[in-house]
Amino acid sequence: MDVSRIREDFPLLKQTMMGHPLIYMDNAATTLKPRCVIDAVTDYYTRLGANAHRGDYALSAQVDEAFESARARVAQFLNAKSSAQIVFTSGTSASLNQVASGYARKILKEGDVILSTVAEHASSILPFLRAAKETGARMEYIELDADGRVTLEHVQRSLHPRVRMIVLAQVSNVLGQVAPVADICRIAHAQGICVVVDGAQSTPHMRIDVQQMDCDFFAFSAHKLCGPTGVGVLYGKQELLEQCEPLYLGGGSNARFDVCGNLQLKEVPFRFESGTPPIEGVLGMRAAIDYLEEHSMEAIHAHELQLRSYIVDRMKQMDHVILYNENAQSGIITFNVKNIFAQDAASYFNANGIALRSGQHCAKLLVEFLQTSATLRASLYLYNTKEEADRFLDVLAQCTMERC
Ligand code: PLP
Repeated sequence: MDVSRIREDFPLLKQTMMGHPLIYMDNAATTLKPRCVIDAVTDYYTRLGANAHRGDYALSAQVDEAFESARARVAQFLNAKSSAQIVFTSGTSASLNQVASGYARKILKEGDVILSTVAEHASSILPFLRAAKETGARMEYIELDADGRVTLEHVQRSLHPRVRMIVLAQVSNVLGQVAPVADICRIAHAQGICVVVDGAQSTPHMRIDVQQMDCDFFAFSAHKLCGPTGVGVLYGKQELLEQCEPLYLGGGSNARFDVCGNLQLKEVPFRFESGTPPIEGVLGMRAAIDYLEEHSMEAIHAHELQLRSYIVDRMKQMDHVILYNENAQSGIITFNVKNIFAQDAASYFNANGIALRSGQHCAKLLVEFLQTSATLRASLYLYNTKEEADRFLDVLAQCTMERC
């Protein structure tokens, strides 16, 4: 992968921050956008502009075609059987809320159990905690191993006849561990358990094959894979999507209705897409997917792992650094500087032009496991370089009580 050429595609990488060249290592929060994505969004506003699935004129038909072709492209990207299984949403949070409110609430009964982990993002866990509360079901948590991994053995140990659903991230946004989701689906399905996979942190970094994984639902956000904000995807098995109640009703999702409220919904996926969708976002997401696949998902993942291993090997030699996920198989590095509050350390990195995240990273249930209330997180992507890693390590080496 030619990283210096890739960097030319990202206008923001030419900016400075606090007087230093910007080093962007907050990719788990959101990613920078390449020129082709910015152009795709602008192109919609300059050349197309009409609504989707609404008009009877040529321009509108062009929008419909671009919009549905983007859906087919996403289906291909995930290796879904059909475009009908791809629902456009505003992002992972919306996708998971749709599953929790529209499916979990429908199937759960009093005493049923949803299995999850304490490493989940609020957007994963909260919608399902609410569904459990409303149905008299309850949440149980799969034990993590010492490295924060979800192991098959621990999943197996947590299964019992009341478990109806498993909800978990393929890659944790704090621990960066990769869950064996295909194996989890296999053992869960043998007992009739539905598996919902939060793909927010995996889809941008590795090849996803929903058929091979055999998950029941899968969610991701475009903005974490170089695409626009405010758009994402819910994938579902066709028969499950058909059982799912749409979270929103409105224009675009209904075939007919009458004054008494009798309603006939459109077929899947349109029944989930009430209201005007983020058209420019969908077209931008398509451009982002094309861009990533041009560079190959395998090459992107390998680049991140190589850079991570370079950084982590050096961090391990620093006595003042606490590493929380030394062995993770992703570009997420979670750490603290001894005796320095995470936010103060993040400010020191900021003063040196390095963008990191500090805090709980929306995974508030992890406090006990990590035995700390806040951590720093550096998260890598295809445009990060060894030179940036060296600069990060230099600043980290200088980040001591006297300076911060
Ligand atoms: N799940 C995980 C693991 C995440 O990291 C995030 C965002 O950080 C989300 C869900 C929510 O994604 P969004 O804010 O795009 O809806």
